[in-house]
Amino acid sequence: MRKPIIVGNWKLNKTIAEAVEFVTAVEPLLHNDADFGVAASYLALQASVESAKNLIIAAQNVNENDSGAFTGEVSVGMLKEVGVKWVILGHSERRQYYGETDASVNAKTLKAVANGLTPIVCVGELLEEFEAGKTEEVVRRQTKAALAGLTAEQVSNIVIAYEPVWAIGTGKSATQEIAQNTCALVRNEVEVNFGVDAAEKVRIQYGGSVKPENIKAYLSEKDIDGALIGGASLKVDSFKAIIDAVKA
Ligand code: PGA
Repeated sequence: MRKPIIVGNWKLNKTIAEAVEFVTAVEPLLHNDADFGVAASYLALQASVESAKNLIIAAQNVNENDSGAFTGEVSVGMLKEVGVKWVILGHSERRQYYGETDASVNAKTLKAVANGLTPIVCVGELLEEFEAGKTEEVVRRQTKAALAGLTAEQVSNIVIAYEPVWAIGTGKSATQEIAQNTCALVRNEVEVNFGVDAAEKVRIQYGGSVKPENIKAYLSEKDIDGALIGGASLKVDSFKAIIDAVKA
């Protein structure tokens, strides 16, 4: 049985004080039927880690180098120094606005895993790819490329998030059927490259306009093991409603 994992992606939101306030308010609301986390800005990570007990605190990106002339970047060692153990990689906003490629997502994934960070690796097709019927081709390519070089055991322990780009922040969530079918394709691509055992163990989230009202339906699908949530993770009230909704 794969334990569901629900992670809020705060993106460019929340000061340190706001992050601490949120973590402190949410911590007592958690339960054991799922893992819960939030991805804070780099600046708010340390204080969030210090305020959290059971809530996973994730970074939203990391550089693939240990150090050097990479202005504006943060390394795996820097994240670990402040107690961070999780990192979102390859989010579509990073791919679209900051030039991340399958190759850079792969390099970051290898770096993170080799250093004991658990990545949430994002894949997902653009609207025009969806409309052109290219979803399968795109998510298989992104999944295979991102994970290349990992062992089957390493893949078993990571999280993959399927996030159709047309559903992110648009309020237009993918139908349950599309989300399930594409998460099943991602799982099959893991099986093709890493075997049945890794495919059965890897946790696959759906992301894109997930809210308290629709999360339960997604989680009822057999290949959807959780959610990556942007907008609805920003307020304690709606995150609480999500926490309550996934109680078994
Ligand atoms: P959204 O964002 O829930 O606001 O659609 C999801 C994401 O980008 O991870």
